[in-house]
Amino acid sequence: MDPWLLVYDGCDPAQEGLREALTTLGNGCFATRGAAPEARADGVHYPGTYVAGCYDRLVSRVAGRTVDNEDLVNAPNWLPLTFRARTGDWFAPDTAEILTVRRTLDMRQGTLTRLLRVRDRLGHVTRVEQRRLVSMDEPHLAALRTTLVAENWSGTLQVRSALDGDVVNAGVARYRGLAGRHLVPVRSHAADGVTGLLARTASSRVEIALAARTTLAGPHSSEFRAGRGWARHDLGVDVAEGGEVTVDKIVALYTSRDRAIASCEEAARTAVERAGSFEELLGRHTRAWARLWERAHVTAGDSDVQQVLNLYVFHLLQTVSPHVAGLDAGLPARGLHGEAYRGHVFWDEVFAFPFLAPRFPEITEALLRYRWRRLPEARWAARHAGYAGAMFPWQSASDGREETQTLHLNPRSGRWLPDNSHLQRHVGLAVACNVWRHHEATGDSAFLAGPGGELLVEIARFFASLAVREGERYAIRGVMGPDEYHDGYPGRAEPGLDNNAYTNVMTAWLMRRVLELDPADLGEEERRRFSDLARRMRVDFHDGVISQFEGYGDLKELDWAAYRAKYGDIRRLDRILEAEGDTPNRYKASKQADVLMLFHLLGADGLAEILTGLGYAWDRAAATRTVDYYLARTCHGSTLSAVVHAGVLARLRPGASQPFLVEALNSDVRDLQGGTTAEGVHLGAMAGVAVLFEGAHPRSAVRAADRCG
Ligand code: BGC
Repeated sequence: MDPWLLVYDGCDPAQEGLREALTTLGNGCFATRGAAPEARADGVHYPGTYVAGCYDRLVSRVAGRTVDNEDLVNAPNWLPLTFRARTGDWFAPDTAEILTVRRTLDMRQGTLTRLLRVRDRLGHVTRVEQRRLVSMDEPHLAALRTTLVAENWSGTLQVRSALDGDVVNAGVARYRGLAGRHLVPVRSHAADGVTGLLARTASSRVEIALAARTTLAGPHSSEFRAGRGWARHDLGVDVAEGGEVTVDKIVALYTSRDRAIASCEEAARTAVERAGSFEELLGRHTRAWARLWERAHVTAGDSDVQQVLNLYVFHLLQTVSPHVAGLDAGLPARGLHGEAYRGHVFWDEVFAFPFLAPRFPEITEALLRYRWRRLPEARWAARHAGYAGAMFPWQSASDGREETQTLHLNPRSGRWLPDNSHLQRHVGLAVACNVWRHHEATGDSAFLAGPGGELLVEIARFFASLAVREGERYAIRGVMGPDEYHDGYPGRAEPGLDNNAYTNVMTAWLMRRVLELDPADLGEEERRRFSDLARRMRVDFHDGVISQFEGYGDLKELDWAAYRAKYGDIRRLDRILEAEGDTPNRYKASKQADVLMLFHLLGADGLAEILTGLGYAWDRAAATRTVDYYLARTCHGSTLSAVVHAGVLARLRPGASQPFLVEALNSDVRDLQGGTTAEGVHLGAMAGVAVLFEGAHPRSAVRAADRCG
């Protein structure tokens, strides 16, 4: 097996969404799912192109309430290309029989190739070879080369190359009750060798322009047509039986958010006119990927594992490539690969920074600048909630306001439920941690003296104001930790938990870092308070282990065996319990690593240092007890959980880490969260896997057999 290739043979409608997501091509500025060029969104196929940072807000009615949602916009589709043999039907998923098909993602080169043989209803058999790229060299360009061979027929071959602006956001079934028509067609044209389309997003009014140049060598007919939201170029050519025709489609995509342009429409048109040939584009693109791989490659040892590792690093770099340095975009948790979580930015970059910061500091700086530009909004959010400093939102998108939905649907019960996950204030601590990681990797004192330091201090101010003095200790009340299955106490009306250990310990960690930095604009009183917090944050314990939050020890034990026996897969225990009329809030049962995140981010020694600095007795036995305790009470409802468990166990209990490493490796390639990868990859887990392999993990322990298990 070639670890640089991901190969899919045959058609499998149930797997199509997953394959499209995993064969997405992108360059950090935009990405396009691996959907077939002749396909439309039809329940099996889902063409999607997403532009980094291009969001739009729409209002919907849900469960009798008005809600607004900001989505990463599904941009006009640049892919459409189909053909017909003589008087046969235009090739589409339902008009021809696919005799053979193989799709190959080449991760070294950044190309997707499709080989297929199709027979139309009149018996014409045509062989098709298609290769596409989204240029890593010129981030506004993409290209599709199609070679058609008339196997058993001769006559006129017609090719239709189009741009389609009649696109909505409908990639996630549970969001389909919500408004999704973000694109308003502005104008289209088709003449003089170029087709073009201009659309505008409904409320953010971002203009998105596509231009395409489709060429075919030798004598052929050409017809251009355009209508509202579409433009097309039909080409006709005579082929002899066995004859071969190659059609190249070069596309440019610009938006009004791009720099150094007069208008995005003009920029797109000029770019396709100047782009050069498919071969030239391919050459520059593969050289750009070669340069990236020199900096990014991580070695696994085993070729099966190497393939997955390459795939995950590939998708990470396609979402946040060095091109993000010129953008204003964060790291969307589900990549530019689908519409899950609406393209929002959570805390997942904390899993990517250890990989990216030493290799691509220009990317980590860009991601931090995305946060820094949103400091005014975070400051306002803190003030509005009665706090100081900057309160970053749990879900962030265009302007940095809180984008977390207020209701979410439990597909198991069909009920819309209150969503309190915005109480995950710890997202700010992840931003701070990232500033620190970037600094450690780069030693860039100018960044730390500027935006980096400002972020650290403002986030520290927020947590210092969130903490309240109660006797000898400081408490933080009414928040949520990373474990989203606990959002409150049974019987308490107000959502939120008290003294989440992860939040409190990371607050103490942050105070230490800020004091170490000793920024000039810190007042004496602030300095005193920060150092008090560094020594007196409260951490609860029960049964000799850290309590995930105050009162955790009083919760009931879940009958894990009974739930596993009844439901099999209990990763989404929250949905199962809610559908039963129950709630995870009553149980010692976590969605994902919460206390264990402390080991993940700080290491066992770093955690010991903070805890002893807070005056708590702590030793290796307590650490092992704590890890084992939560290991037995976590159902891994997030792909991030396996990454954390694999890493933490590798250091504390090496024998136990293997299943988690296998799970982390399989998370997207085998779609372990049951259908979710089709809606977008899990970038935090992908990046986390890369970190596991470059870090201390015993590579020899990963065997191909386990991965396939
Ligand atoms: C996880 C979060 C994560 C989010 C986006 C959720 O399922 O619980 O920790 O940030 O997905 O990846």
